Amino acid sequence: MNIPLRDFSELELKKEIAGLGEKPFRAAQLAGWLYKKAALTFEEITNLPAPFKEKLKARFCVNSLSLVSKDISAEDHSVKYLLRTQDSHLLETVLILQGKRRTICLSTQIGCKMGCRFCASGKEGMIRHLSAGEILDQIAWVNQDQQCHSSNLVYMGMGEPLDNYDHVLKSIRAAGAPWGYEIGQRRITVSTVGVIPGIRKLARENLNQLKLSFSLHSPDNAVRAKLIPSNRKYQLDEIIDALKQVRDQFKRKITLEYILIEELTDRDEDAQGLAKICLGLKAKVNLIPYNRIEDEAFKRPSREKIQAFQQELEKAGIRVTVRYSAGQDIDAACGQLRLREERKARPKRS
Ligand code: SF4
Repeated sequence: MNIPLRDFSELELKKEIAGLGEKPFRAAQLAGWLYKKAALTFEEITNLPAPFKEKLKARFCVNSLSLVSKDISAEDHSVKYLLRTQDSHLLETVLILQGKRRTICLSTQIGCKMGCRFCASGKEGMIRHLSAGEILDQIAWVNQDQQCHSSNLVYMGMGEPLDNYDHVLKSIRAAGAPWGYEIGQRRITVSTVGVIPGIRKLARENLNQLKLSFSLHSPDNAVRAKLIPSNRKYQLDEIIDALKQVRDQFKRKITLEYILIEELTDRDEDAQGLAKICLGLKAKVNLIPYNRIEDEAFKRPSREKIQAFQQELEKAGIRVTVRYSAGQDIDAACGQLRLREERKARPKRS
C-alpha cells in the first residue's frame, strides 16, 4: 500500500521532500495540488518534474480511496459517496447541501466498536482506524467531484472520532491550516458518544473555536447503556463532567444529539431529564427522529409526539432543532450503505 500524501503535516511533507533530494519549495507546490486543487492522481499534477513524480509514485499516493458509487438524494440533493480503501474496505462520505453551506460528513473508522443499537456502522464491530490522510482524502473526493471548496466539516460518519484521536486531530489541523483546505475551526464539528479520555484531551488542545457535539440519546443511564454499550464504561455523570471542562475551555456551545425512539426516549420523563442536562451544560439540542436500520425493531414516534417533545424543551428555554437525517432515500444514515454492500459481497452460506 502506498502512503497517502495527505497523511503528512506541512513540516512532515517538507521532510519527506527533502529526503527525496528535492528543493523545499516543491513541498508547497505539492500541498497546493493536494488541498487547494484537490488532486486525486499524479497525472493531474502538471508543474512537477517527471523524475520527481516518479520518485513520489514509488512510495506515495495522491488519493488512497477509489470511488465505488455515488448516489444523489431526490429529497434533499445530499450526495452519498461509497469509497474503497487500498486494503479493500468500504467507507461512506456524505455531502449535505443547505443553502450556500456545503457540509461534508466524514468517516473516521472502518466499522466501530461502540456498537450503538440505532447505528449500522457498529453492527459488525471495529475493523480499523482511518489515517489522517484517509480522512482528508474524503474531502478531496467531494471537492473535486463537486468542483467546489466545501465550507463545513462534521465528524459524524462511520466511527467514533475520539476513539481515533490522533488521526482525527491531525486531520482537523490540516483541514483548517492555510496550507490545507482552509476550513476554519468554527466550521468543524466533532461528534462523540462520550469517550471521556478523548473529551478531556480535546479540552486541552488549542482548538477553542471547534464545535463539539455529544450523542446523548437518553438522560437515563440504564436506557442509555442499552442503546450505547460504551455507556457501561463511561457513565453519564462522568461524561457530563468532562463536557463541562470543554464548555469552559471552548468558546462554542455544546450540542446534544438526541434520537427520538418511540416509548424508549420520547417519554415525558425523558424530556425533563434532557432539559436538566441541557440547562446544566448550557447546551442546545438536535432532536433526530429515529431512522430505521436493518436488524432493529425500534420505531420513530409520531409527528405530534416529536412536536410535543420539542415544545417541552422549548418551554424550559432550550434551543432546539429537529433534524431529519439527510438523504433517507439513499441510505445516508451512518453506515447503512456500507453494511448492505459488505453483506451482498459475502459468499452466501448453503
Ligand atoms: S453511532 Fe457513532 S459511535 Fe455509535 S456505533 Fe455508530 S459510528 Fe459508532
